[in-house]
Amino acid sequence: SKTSDKLSEFLESGVYRLEDSNAVFIDPVRVLNRSYTRFRVSPSAYYSRSFDSKHAGQEARVSSNFRKRKRKEKKPQPLNDRERAADQRHQEVRPFLLKAHESLVRATELLEVVSNLKGNLGPSTSSPGAEQSLVELGQVWQAPLYEITLNFHPNDNAREDGGAPTIQYCEQRAFPVFNNLVVNETSEDVEAELLNSRYILPPESSFYMSDLGQIHNLIPAESDCGFNLIVIDPPWENGSARQKQRYSTLPNRYFLSLPVKQICHTDGALVALWVTNREKLRGFVEKELFPAWGVKYVATFFWLKVKADGSLICDLDLFHHRPYECLLLGLVHGKVTDSKQLSSTKPKLPDNQIILSIPGDYSRKPPIAGLLHEYAPRLQRGRCIELFAREMTAGWISWGNEPLHFQESINFMKT
Ligand code: SAM
Repeated sequence: SKTSDKLSEFLESGVYRLEDSNAVFIDPVRVLNRSYTRFRVSPSAYYSRSFDSKHAGQEARVSSNFRKRKRKEKKPQPLNDRERAADQRHQEVRPFLLKAHESLVRATELLEVVSNLKGNLGPSTSSPGAEQSLVELGQVWQAPLYEITLNFHPNDNAREDGGAPTIQYCEQRAFPVFNNLVVNETSEDVEAELLNSRYILPPESSFYMSDLGQIHNLIPAESDCGFNLIVIDPPWENGSARQKQRYSTLPNRYFLSLPVKQICHTDGALVALWVTNREKLRGFVEKELFPAWGVKYVATFFWLKVKADGSLICDLDLFHHRPYECLLLGLVHGKVTDSKQLSSTKPKLPDNQIILSIPGDYSRKPPIAGLLHEYAPRLQRGRCIELFAREMTAGWISWGNEPLHFQESINFMKT
């Protein structure tokens, strides 16, 4: 039947297009696992925060406190201008979010699979937190001396001649780990060692681990080998990131000098920027940041966060805690490509697309590389890059001060 075709496609791809709405449900673990060859992302590691009863209890307490406090306030305060603007933004997207969520609730065959996810998880593993020390290590004067060792497993071609099977050998190569582009150019996963930790690098992926001060090294030497797809998830300042101290944040003015224009392909690029729901930030991006980068705003996608039972992670209308985040999409037009040529080569970017998924670790975004690909300008030598990345993606370059964070082998199982 039609429905079970859709479900089997989901089991294969991790993507389920919901009926009657601009929405897709994705299972990040299945999506990520499409590109690994010798390892699998472990669902219990990916979903440890969502399914851990200790964390879930904490979130419930926080929101019930919040409600209690709200009830005590007798007179509701009138909204100030900025709050009114934020509320208007919310009211505009609300019908799309509701419709998407209703379609998910109706997709019972999908929800059955998703709710079983929890039961099928093994014991949850907790990350030893070696990453923080890498951010610090990258800043000491000895940083250039640290090397990462990649263990390549060349395919055993020697058997083709009918001779005796040769012993599987492993070629090891060491590279400076900081301020250097480390590349897995093979079509297989590669295991890497750094200090006392092991990391899994997906096929045809690279990382450049550095502070913002070194980002100019990403500017391509030749003008026609820039990037045609750029995803950026900046460490915006906000209460929650600072409180929890998962990573350091930066004031907005630092992002104005990101060399987005300079790393774009000369024939144009699609830029996707994750933003928080703070109204002040939205104004900054629209009026200052996108213009400074030469990006023309085109559309917004929304990431709606749900639990394994399909319900939203919190009430849709809580003012200071929304169950969704926004991805702003814009285009950098190329030198040669006029808009007519661009539109003839790729589908038009739809507005208000909704991506539903169960959140992973704190601030970890769902894997959207595949969804964005079809909207990026199609170019001969186009490349993809993620800025402020905490993980690696097959076919992509990951830049940031902790691009190996989620690549640690503790997050993977061997197939
Ligand atoms: N997109 C990521 C994910 O899905 O897991 C989350 C990115 S997080 C919002 C921002 C990242 O920027 C953090 O990894 C943080 O360590 C990094 N960062 C903060 N300050 C930085 C700096 N000065 N240079 C480079 N990266 C920095």
